[in-house]
Formats: sequence, structure tokens, C-alpha cells
Amino acid sequence: MTICIIKSCRNQTTKRKEKTNITFHKVPADPVAAQKWIEQIRLSRNDPTWTPSEYTRICSAHFLESDLYNTNGGYVRLHKHAYPVKTTHYCQPLFKCPDPSNIINANP
Ligand SMILES: [Zn+2]
Repeated sequence: MTICIIKSCRNQTTKRKEKTNITFHKVPADPVAAQKWIEQIRLSRNDPTWTPSEYTRICSAHFLESDLYNTNGGYVRLHKHAYPVKTTHYCQPLFKCPDPSNIINANP
């Protein structure tokens, strides 16, 4: 079972009986990119010492739609420099969060 690491999020694979657009994504291997993910996850969990494990996943609800794309094989992938931005407020399961642009502007 895969559970989204974002603390306020309840998305997990076992709830996907209905067809949804939620996918789960690993922290990138690139350390610079990974650091942005880790910062966002720490904020969401209010835990400045949190570190990812190999099982850490973030669901697609926390990414901008423009950061997600479909492969020819039908998989949903993230663009190389994508990182989670919709992490510090409650996300309804299976629904996209509101536009986070004001959050981005407050945290350059
Ligand atoms: Zn999530």
C-alpha cells in the first residue's frame, strides 16, 4: 500500500477503487531537486528533521498540473524540475487543491 507522505493528505493506493487521476511519485534521485521536495514535506509535517525513505511517495494532488504529463505508455510522470507546492494546507482526497500561486509568492 502506498500512502502520500504529506501530513494533511489522505490519498493512498487502496482507496483507488474508483478511477481517479491520483498518482504517486518518488523523491527524485538528484540531490538538488530532492532538497526542494524535502523542504516542502518538512513544512507540511512541521518536522524540520524529517528525512525521506525509499518508500516515501507524494501524490499528484500536490503538484501543478503543468508539472505532470502523460507518457506514451499511459503513465503519469513529473517534469524534471517539478516539486510539490500544494503541501501546507488540507487537501481533500481525490480532489485537486486550490491554486497555490500566492503560497509560491510568499516563499520564493
Ligand atoms: Zn497527497
